[in-house]
Amino acid sequence: MASRPGRPLTARDRALVRRAREALRSGYRPDRHGVAAAVRTASGTVYVGLNVDGIHGPCAEHVAIGAAATAGDTRLRSMVAVAKRGASYPVLSPCGNCRQLLLDYAPDATVIARYPNGRVVRLSVQESLPAAFRSFRAARRTRPGARRRARRAKTPSGRPSPVRPR
Ligand SMILES: [Zn+2]
Repeated sequence: MASRPGRPLTARDRALVRRAREALRSGYRPDRHGVAAAVRTASGTVYVGLNVDGIHGPCAEHVAIGAAATAGDTRLRSMVAVAKRGASYPVLSPCGNCRQLLLDYAPDATVIARYPNGRVVRLSVQESLPAAFRSFRAARRTRPGARRRARRAKTPSGRPSPVRPR
């Protein structure tokens, strides 16, 4: 079988896993919160989140990324999720939607994932999503002058104006 991508976890990766486990240990509720995620940003800060189980409940990764965004700290570097299985808290591979969200925010970030054989690895988010969807917004963000144009388009409220069709 061809070798699968992935490198061993670093000390920082293991620390991120521990933070996710701590969050789940304190917030676990079988009917609502069964998964925790942690993201580390370029500032070195770690943000955690629990999944919210409901009709459209978000994954824990969305909540953790939202916590980082709430703090204005969205230069995401790494992401991990853990679940509870009995007395242990194994790493859970982020779902495709969460990998896509990470890719949209930070195409150079890494994701900690688990292969079906139990091997836990660090992957670039791009390795984790081969042939990934790239939104037009993400493409526009990386085009020269995109930030300047976005700033000019801000409304008096300070919020960027909604994207208008051209
Ligand atoms: Zn997800």
